[in-house]
Amino acid sequence: MNRGRRTLFLLLLAALAFIPPAKAQNATIRLSADLREAPRRIFHAHLELPVKAGPLTLLYPKWIPGEHAPDGPIADLVGLKLTANGKTIPWRRDDVDMFMFHVDIPSGTNALEATYDYLSPAGGEGFSAGPTADQMLAVLEWNLLVLYPSGAPTDSLTYQASLRLPQGWKFATSLTVEKQDTDEISFAPVSLTTLVDSPVLTGQNFRSIALAPDVKPPHHLNIAADSVAALAISDEQIAAYSRLVREAGALFGGRHYDHYDFLVSLTNYFYPNGLEHHQSSDDRVAERTFINSDQEEASNSLLSHEFTHSWNGKYRRPAGLATPDFEQPMKDDLLWIYEGLTQYIGEFLAARSGLRTEEDYREALARVAAYLDYPGRSWRSLEDTAVAAQFLYDASHNWSAWRRSVDFYDEGWLIWLDADILIRQQSHGQKSLDDFCRRFYGSPDSSPKVVAYSLDDVIAALNAIVPYDWRGFFNARVYEINPHPPLGGIEHGGWQLTYNEEENSVMRVRETVEDTLDLSFSVGMQVQTASGEENGRLADVIPGTPAADAGLAPGMRLISVNGRGFTPGALHEAIAEAKGANKPIVITADNGGFVLTYNVQYHGGERYPHLARNTSQPDLLSDTLRPLTPRGAAK
Ligand SMILES: [Zn+2]
Repeated sequence: MNRGRRTLFLLLLAALAFIPPAKAQNATIRLSADLREAPRRIFHAHLELPVKAGPLTLLYPKWIPGEHAPDGPIADLVGLKLTANGKTIPWRRDDVDMFMFHVDIPSGTNALEATYDYLSPAGGEGFSAGPTADQMLAVLEWNLLVLYPSGAPTDSLTYQASLRLPQGWKFATSLTVEKQDTDEISFAPVSLTTLVDSPVLTGQNFRSIALAPDVKPPHHLNIAADSVAALAISDEQIAAYSRLVREAGALFGGRHYDHYDFLVSLTNYFYPNGLEHHQSSDDRVAERTFINSDQEEASNSLLSHEFTHSWNGKYRRPAGLATPDFEQPMKDDLLWIYEGLTQYIGEFLAARSGLRTEEDYREALARVAAYLDYPGRSWRSLEDTAVAAQFLYDASHNWSAWRRSVDFYDEGWLIWLDADILIRQQSHGQKSLDDFCRRFYGSPDSSPKVVAYSLDDVIAALNAIVPYDWRGFFNARVYEINPHPPLGGIEHGGWQLTYNEEENSVMRVRETVEDTLDLSFSVGMQVQTASGEENGRLADVIPGTPAADAGLAPGMRLISVNGRGFTPGALHEAIAEAKGANKPIVITADNGGFVLTYNVQYHGGERYPHLARNTSQPDLLSDTLRPLTPRGAAK
């Protein structure tokens, strides 16, 4: 049977058994979440669903908004038991769609109850499906704990959620609290779309800080941390995040939320990541991010990126990503706008807000421009990295310069900078991409809503700012194969990508916080430097570089360099010694138990990317970093 038709058939059947809210009173679905065992990484759920006799299909969210992939953690949904009128109701998982449970509702039944657990992983990577609870804090993304009846758009399903927390844990969420006692928090009913868009941050060590208090609607920076010490964010940082709120308002000229909550978890236990929502963001960073300058620098544009998504991604969204439920596949082809433009805006907003210096911005941009110049570009367009995002997020990091990764983020930064500089040049400084942002994402203010767009809409809006062959501009950069990354924004902005022996400051911070040695632009490899068995492991090797030509490959573990046991210092010394000489750098490495010798013919010395000012051109790049609001603005 054709799977598409079969699914449609099941949807029709399922629609018969679930009573949509419009057709029945009290059709609200009740979901009780119990996180009292969050430190053991078990979330309990109890669901009450109005039904009538007949076939019913329950779905677990598969395509998670903002994750752009069918990565709902179905393997961690366990203990599913269904009852009605006190009797067990059997279920059967669909043979083809693992996220689908078929049920036959007996006659005389008007309510179905479901109990089940979500088991949060104890380690590893992943987005909302990664580790999300530890001894001191948890983040509840509701898609982890929701089942819903198929056959109706998630906008039309009403959920009343309630929540139990470990004793003494505080919380923040963009949901409205309807009732709260010592035992349980009850939230006002919302659509299932809104529920899944409204995570809860909870923990023992907790702070909630009002940002830019004079700005309406209100914004809060909510922080849960593994330690009390980690909550000590400075007044300067709070002032910078307040400026972020103002700068975003000045850039877009309109807001599409009733209030906004940054939900920041400070823990080394979670995989560092951010997930955007309409009225909040789930921002996961290292425990000491607010009290250690390297950690702070490593994630100083995360919150501005996720905040930008409230406009670009949530309010305005590519039509292929504006799906009616979490079952229908998303089309990721325009992620170079959804994520790529957000990357560009998030990076310059961080600089405009003072969350990072202009020098840091340029070092980060130089790193990105240098990284993207690798051989994987010879077979795959940037668009293909977006189309394939649903598996590229989870792809191996090995040989990533040949595979290509989710490059639409960083290359999007280069492309939209290029577009911004072009608008500034074409309009003789009268217009910029800021004008596009105001036109496409701005006024009038509204509550959360989705306005879908196509590439044609984006091109029309750009043409309204500055008439140009925008389709040709994007064809050349996004859709065609390009052996080198687009550096027009840097070069026409008055700067040049250069290399010298001085370490790139952004790379130095990443080496420190990620325990790596990044020699991508000299010998052509990245080495893990964490203590223990992984010390010396090659995280990646770049094809076409001296390391690759010598036969080294990702996964091998360096044992010695020029006869000395591997340390980062020994490798740096060997690079210095080989500079201008003829003798190779001699490396022994363990490859799955086989120890071999590799002669690396590299004589160019240390090599790191930077941007250097080209004074023959006006400095338009720095113009993109000018704040729109006074730097001295009150908190
Ligand atoms: Zn993003």
